[in-house]
Amino acid sequence: MIGANSMFWHEEIETLNRAELEALQLNRLRETVRRLERVPFYRAKFRASRLKPEDLKTADDIRRLPFTTAADLRANYPNALLAVGRDEVLRLHTSSGTTGKPKALFFSRRDIDTAAELIARAFCMTGVTRRDVFQNMMSYGLFTGGLMMHYGAEKVGCMVIPSGPGTSERQLLLMQDFGTTVVHVTPSYAFYFADFLEKKGIDPRKSLTLRKAFVGAEPYTEETRSKIEAALGIEVYNSYGLTEMNGPGVAFECEGKCGMHVWEDNFVLEVIDPATGEPVSDGQTGELVLTSVNREAMPLLRYRTRDLTSIIAGPCACGRTHRRIHRISGRSDDMLIVRGVNIYPQQIERVLMSMPQIGRNYVIQLEGLDEMTVRVELSPSGFDGEVEHLAQLQNLVAEKLRAELFVRPKVDLVASGSLPVAEGKAKRVIDKRSM
Ligand code: AMP
Ligand code: ZN
Repeated sequence: MIGANSMFWHEEIETLNRAELEALQLNRLRETVRRLERVPFYRAKFRASRLKPEDLKTADDIRRLPFTTAADLRANYPNALLAVGRDEVLRLHTSSGTTGKPKALFFSRRDIDTAAELIARAFCMTGVTRRDVFQNMMSYGLFTGGLMMHYGAEKVGCMVIPSGPGTSERQLLLMQDFGTTVVHVTPSYAFYFADFLEKKGIDPRKSLTLRKAFVGAEPYTEETRSKIEAALGIEVYNSYGLTEMNGPGVAFECEGKCGMHVWEDNFVLEVIDPATGEPVSDGQTGELVLTSVNREAMPLLRYRTRDLTSIIAGPCACGRTHRRIHRISGRSDDMLIVRGVNIYPQQIERVLMSMPQIGRNYVIQLEGLDEMTVRVELSPSGFDGEVEHLAQLQNLVAEKLRAELFVRPKVDLVASGSLPVAEGKAKRVIDKRSM
């Protein structure tokens, strides 16, 4: 059901029925395989399995294609996966990663244009128009969150303020003087900025014209979303992407904020059991696997994102037919094993963010043999300063965490604003264990 107020950037694509969408995907997939026959890494895999583009006949046939992993990208660094001539490459981005060489990703002119187009669709989906003023607080440079989002916003026709991460004073000045209505920000920086306003005694509802934030680049919980919305008096939309698949604009929430639509005309979506590689059913959590079927310079087949999510079955009230995924609950590689128990940092965040006395920044430190300390800031206004109350609160947090994790961490409550804030993605886990 398409509401009278809904806005579409490309209604004819966004509302294709399943059969049409799958036919389009299949066509583009065959074309992509044909393109990848030029890439030695893929050509060898196609030869080994005697696969030809024409053999791809149904949506399920994607499972005949090989997976691509982050290790494959690193092994083929810097440019062995390039599928076009060097002259056709217009831009390079790299993906952060934690260790070693970055992953290098190339874009042709059409790739950049497509990426901007998908972001424009996403903006539209949340009701952003050319009348909006968009302040992009993500870092510009090799990270796609700056430049790609910028291009998308310009395509919509917003006035773009490319502020980058900058200082909070400068962000505020720009917001006040130029009437910013939409920001793009990491969840950790959104919190930091909310604290900054609170300390300055600025009520964003009264002094700012902000109404929406696109929040992504790192996992966060529903509790965190609500806390950011309450602190800044805005609507927060979840924005998911990764450099390997264009950057931002792979999956985005619509106005209903009920999961993120994956742009299935550009990405074939699978959710698999990371151990077996087999698909899991809708609603079940597994590893997100994406195939870019509309890329020229560097398409990737069945890329193992390591991001954990599930497919939301059923249609969305907005009328878009592209399937939705749940917010990323973590990465298959960020599971911690503490005293033999599997723990995801998001479980800890969920508990912390549900407590009003607790502030917005936290870090999980692992030391010694297997000691876990959760260091978390107090809320700027929610604590009365009494020492015995602090001990009680510390105990309460530790107990709540124990109930969730089955391990009781040490809890260290610290003053609001005293933990470091990253310019880019937050580093939540510091593992200094001696094992
Ligand atoms: P990069 O390629 O450096 O931009 O990093 C992409 C990665 O950031 C993804 O694979 C996710 O792990 C993470 N990420 C991006 N957006 C989100 C989001 N909205 N929620 C959770 N994780 C995200
Ligand atoms: Zn929707």
